[in-house]
Amino acid sequence: MTLPAIPDRPPFGVRACLLSPLADGRTLHEPDGYLAVDADGRLGFIGPASEAGDEALAAAHDLRPWVVLPGMVDLHAHLPQLPNAGLGAGMDLLAWLERYIFSLERGFDVPTAERVAPMAWRAFAAAGTTTALVYGAVYEDSLDATFRAAEAHGIRAIVGKVMMDRITYDPTIDPTTILDRSLAETGRLIERWHGAADDRLRYAVTPRFAVSCTADMLRESAALADATGAYWQTHISEDLGEIAEVARLFPEARDYVDVYDRAGGLGPRTILAHGVHLSDPELERLVESGTRVAHCPVSNLFLASGVMPLGRYLEAGLQMGLGSDVAAGPDLSIFTVMRTGFYAQHARKVAGLETGPLLGPVEWLRLGSLEGARSLGLGDVIGSIEPGKEADLIAIDPSYILPMDGQAIDDDPDDIASRMIFRAHPDMVRVAWVRGRRLDGPGVR
Ligand SMILES: [Zn+2]
Repeated sequence: MTLPAIPDRPPFGVRACLLSPLADGRTLHEPDGYLAVDADGRLGFIGPASEAGDEALAAAHDLRPWVVLPGMVDLHAHLPQLPNAGLGAGMDLLAWLERYIFSLERGFDVPTAERVAPMAWRAFAAAGTTTALVYGAVYEDSLDATFRAAEAHGIRAIVGKVMMDRITYDPTIDPTTILDRSLAETGRLIERWHGAADDRLRYAVTPRFAVSCTADMLRESAALADATGAYWQTHISEDLGEIAEVARLFPEARDYVDVYDRAGGLGPRTILAHGVHLSDPELERLVESGTRVAHCPVSNLFLASGVMPLGRYLEAGLQMGLGSDVAAGPDLSIFTVMRTGFYAQHARKVAGLETGPLLGPVEWLRLGSLEGARSLGLGDVIGSIEPGKEADLIAIDPSYILPMDGQAIDDDPDDIASRMIFRAHPDMVRVAWVRGRRLDGPGVR
């Protein structure tokens, strides 16, 4: 099979099927479309190929019958955990952390980071993810190595050094100075990396979760994020054992959300992973404060944590996107996350817990792209194929997701999205671009 000539860097024009959510709620679908990427890596003309003009069309890279989409946004993953992806299905969260995760993160020194991080960034791109919000390990120098790898790779990445002072996986760290040390390390990392690579790299202050952090660490870390404009990310309400432990550790707090609220941690630059078991008052407070939630349905079923009442949260107006949560989720693909999320909501319906309409395929696609971008405050920058946005795109080869040789991709956008979600293939993403620059990882070269 001859591969089409694929543009490596801007400017360029591409002829392909285009599919994207749009900011106004509609969906872009051009079966024979053309898009232009300017020299700065921004999208220009987007529309039917018939309107692109003869000159542009003659110079275009003809990728038909591939489908070009916005790159996916992964709102939650743990980069050092990738080597243990797929281990510990059904284990209780806290036991799983002890058994499979802390030892791996303890071993995440610079040589390990220099080996694992470049592979991880390529793996994200191969899965169709062009923006990832991830946790590192606790070591400052391993974070530098992780950022350097992202800088070299070209992916859009937001990364944070894990902070923990109540329990730690490294007994050589002095517990009496751990808070000040972790804050100082985080401060230096923010200075070096927040806004680096022309703002392609950003920093997220990352206290692991309330079980492993004191109220002091939560408060100080939130203040640091506030003072520097960095993101603040942590976990919330993932499983019932964890929720009980948080209630025991923070008896003064009304509920789990209140633990982070008292720390000053809520707001539009905060992304909380999971939130499976939120009460009505908790949900209300998150919506009111503009806090974002990363929905990680694969992880939630892998560790038997629970099934998010997604309809109730969306109805309440909670800003959400999707997360792979590798390694509690075994797979980096956001398409896999959509599929599992879809099935999980069907299970709720079967159980009589959902009576209203459920999200359709295009709506899941929107959650994995534009809503993820909005959750990061990047809704005007990436997440959809619209003029003026940065060209963070992927191209999917439909031959991987159609059951019969030579079969043409469907005419209906929901049907196309449905094929991608329910027949997601590990090799279907053939190209990923960030700002019009092609990323290493997807399998063409
Ligand atoms: Zn996680």
